[in-house]
Amino acid sequence: MSSHEANCGSCAYKATFTQPLRSYKLQDGTTVPLESTFVWCQACTDVRWGEKLPELAALKERLRAIETRDPLVVEELLFLVSKRQPMTEVIERHVTGLVQRIAWRQNRISAARCLECGSLNIRELEHVERDWEADSDLPDEEWILLGHGDCRGSIRVLPSASWALNRCWIHYTQEGERIQAFEMYAGKGAVPVDSA
Ligand SMILES: [Zn+2]
Ligand SMILES: [Zn+2]
Repeated sequence: MSSHEANCGSCAYKATFTQPLRSYKLQDGTTVPLESTFVWCQACTDVRWGEKLPELAALKERLRAIETRDPLVVEELLFLVSKRQPMTEVIERHVTGLVQRIAWRQNRISAARCLECGSLNIRELEHVERDWEADSDLPDEEWILLGHGDCRGSIRVLPSASWALNRCWIHYTQEGERIQAFEMYAGKGAVPVDSA
C-alpha cells in the first residue's frame, strides 16, 4: 500500500508513506493541485510530506510558454492529445489550471508547511532525480536527509516497489492548513473521513 519507504543508514529508523491526492480549496470553491516533497518536520520530529511552493516566476513563465505554443511545451503535452481531446483543448485546460495556480500563489503568505501537522518548522530533503539507465542499480529518484537526530546518519526515502491506487483526497487552505480528508469512490464520489 505504501508509495515510499524511508530508512536510516545508522539506526533502526524506518517509515512508510502513502501518497494521497492533495489540493488547495480556495474561497471561491475551486481546487488547485498541491505539490509536495519530503521534509524533516521539527514538530513531528519525523520525515513527512511537506509543501513544495512553486516560484511565481516559474508558473508565469510556464503560462507564457503554453500561450505562445512553445514547441518544447507542445511536445511535452502531445501524449495527452487524442481524438476526443484535441491539442486546443489540452492547451486550454492547462492554461486554466495555470491561471488558477498563479492566483493562489500570488495570495499565498506563509512559508511551506508540514502536511501532517501544519508546522512551518521544516527542512526540505535533498531530492535527486536521475535519467533512466538500463545498467544502473540506482533508483530513478530519492530524497536524502543528512544528520538524522542523535545517530547523525543519513535517511534515504525511496519509491516503494509496490504501487497501489490511493483513494484519499485531502483539502488544504491556501496557506497549507489541513481542512478535510475525503475517500474517493467510483459510485459515491468524495466521502468525508475526518474533520480538522
Ligand atoms: Zn538514524
Ligand atoms: Zn509535522
